[in-house]
Amino acid sequence: MFILKGIDQLTNAIAKAKKVRPRVEFDRFGRYRVSGSKGYYTVICRKDERGYKTVACTCRGAEKGLACYHAAAALSLHIGLARRQQTA
Ligand SMILES: [Zn+2]
Repeated sequence: MFILKGIDQLTNAIAKAKKVRPRVEFDRFGRYRVSGSKGYYTVICRKDERGYKTVACTCRGAEKGLACYHAAAALSLHIGLARRQQTA
């Protein structure tokens, strides 16, 4: 799990996501399934009680606090959906 502070943090992960092009499946708002090298990972995007945006992924990199490409792929969908919710 890591705290999303800015897009800079995701630069490498986004570049990798563009290269790998994982499949992102919508589960519900804030919860996505992203294909990886060993099957699907679950990515959870949410705001914690302090107002920090947290992103959790079930892959090993994210367990160590790294911004993985699964999270980057899920976030691009999540941010689009969040924006649509705000304007609805
Ligand atoms: Zn991951």
